[in-house]
Amino acid sequence: MPALAEATKLTSRNPATGEALGDVDCASPEQVASAVARARAAQASWSEQPLPERLRPLRRFQHVLHERKREVGESIAREAGKPYVEALLTEVIVALDAAKFCVREAHSFLRPQPVPHSNLLMRSKHGYFLRQPYGVVGIIAPWNYPFSIPAVQALAALVTGNAVVLKPSEFTPLIALKLQKLFEESGLPPDLFQVVAGEAQTGSALITSGVNKLVFTGSVATGKRVAEAAAARLLPVVLELGGKDPMLVLADADVDVASSAAIWGAFVNAGQTCLSVERCYVYRSLYESFLVACVEKARRLKVGNGMDPETEVGPMIHQRQLHIVEEHVNDALSRGARLLVGGSTLPELGENFYAPTVLADVDQQMRIMQEETFGPVLPVMPFDSEEEALRLANDSQFGLSASIWTRDRTRGESLASRIEAGTVMVNDVVACFGISEAPHGGVKSSGLGRMHGRTGLEEMTRLKYVDSDLVPSMKKVWWYGYGSAFGLQIEGFTDFLFGRSPARRLAGGLSSARAFFRRGRL
Ligand code: NAD
Repeated sequence: MPALAEATKLTSRNPATGEALGDVDCASPEQVASAVARARAAQASWSEQPLPERLRPLRRFQHVLHERKREVGESIAREAGKPYVEALLTEVIVALDAAKFCVREAHSFLRPQPVPHSNLLMRSKHGYFLRQPYGVVGIIAPWNYPFSIPAVQALAALVTGNAVVLKPSEFTPLIALKLQKLFEESGLPPDLFQVVAGEAQTGSALITSGVNKLVFTGSVATGKRVAEAAAARLLPVVLELGGKDPMLVLADADVDVASSAAIWGAFVNAGQTCLSVERCYVYRSLYESFLVACVEKARRLKVGNGMDPETEVGPMIHQRQLHIVEEHVNDALSRGARLLVGGSTLPELGENFYAPTVLADVDQQMRIMQEETFGPVLPVMPFDSEEEALRLANDSQFGLSASIWTRDRTRGESLASRIEAGTVMVNDVVACFGISEAPHGGVKSSGLGRMHGRTGLEEMTRLKYVDSDLVPSMKKVWWYGYGSAFGLQIEGFTDFLFGRSPARRLAGGLSSARAFFRRGRL
């Protein structure tokens, strides 16, 4: 079958109404390459600037974004469909806090760090490491958090001295262009942050454009293609991929609190959140009361256009995503799951709406418990022991995050250490994404590397070790001019360093001392 032709223009649409919001030209591979070349030229002087100069536009970015929060929040709500208040909470505030974090941490993070030497042979050296920018960082972003994800990543890249070229999702190019505008208005030098809009071809072109590091956020399937293309060039990558996050409700959990968390965690952004609650396991004696509470709360949710202030759950991003949800729900129902609420589209609201859905009596083999659903569905299943709950939680190809619900924090934290995930929250869900200091990323198929926090800054820098000898006029003892005596002296020196008894160490020290004054060194 011939490959589908790539579009030359994208029409961005409001997923709630289908309304066209604007057209954006797709960047050709040549345009991507020239954006990267411009970014490289701009980066050379950016990375040379003293840090206070680099921090100035990033501080201004905070003020500009803060002043424009409503406009930005509304743009996100229109283009991604989510409720305006969620756009503020999960996108604008997250980006503002990330900017604050980067500005606050930059000095201590970028300061040269001494590397003390314990090996006696190396005592004449002073060592330290430097963190240096990669150069141009390529960012390929998804549509579900179209502002906060690239903003957090770009801020970390910029503060550490890189330039950024962002390929946003084809479904949300306008908000990426708004981010570019905010950086421009903040006084960021030209070409340091550029957007290349387009589909897969534009993303592929970015990988082969000569960027020095790539941060990809998206599905596992695309992530594997991206990793392959990057491996061919030995291009370092961070992969932030999908999830199937479990929620474990233990026997001593507060059912009212945990059920509220479950429905928010499963339905926030219409379930289109990498960290959303995708599987819920509840201790058997709480199971029915938990389900009753979830159903009652799910029924009260107001589904609609994200621009309506009453809306709590918006539309799915597009039909393809909605069909995956339908397939997973139908598969579960055909295999014996119990539909408690929802389970259907809501055509009266628009073509992309799906009702918040709670399924009971699911089992681990159903697609809804194995594959990422990425929609407003909460599948719930009982368990009988904590060991069983742990086994079920870890029985997944994914490992992004997980949550444990219990009144006993110590017990929760002890179980947390045994869950295979990048993050485990005890008595909360999803919110870890809003903690700028906390590393974000997954294990297993959920990805490689970490964004956010100091680990996110580390991903944006190369580590360079600098070693400076304090006695430049002295030839090193290990240089040529070996001979048999030298062998014995170094044996003695090894004893001096590592011998188990004081006598052995002393004897070794005495027999090796001559090595340091030996003649005939080349
Ligand atoms: P996607 O994989 O379809 O697309 C992601 C990006 O990759 C888009 O910009 C797309 O245009 C681009 N792309 C597609 N094919 C490409 C190719 N061959 N080469 C280069 N780029 C290519 O994902 P999506 O539907 O936009 O986002 C949803 C997925 O993202 C979900 O799986 C979700 O869990 C995941 N996600 C993960 C995180 C995280 O932090 N782990 C955060 C948000 C979303």
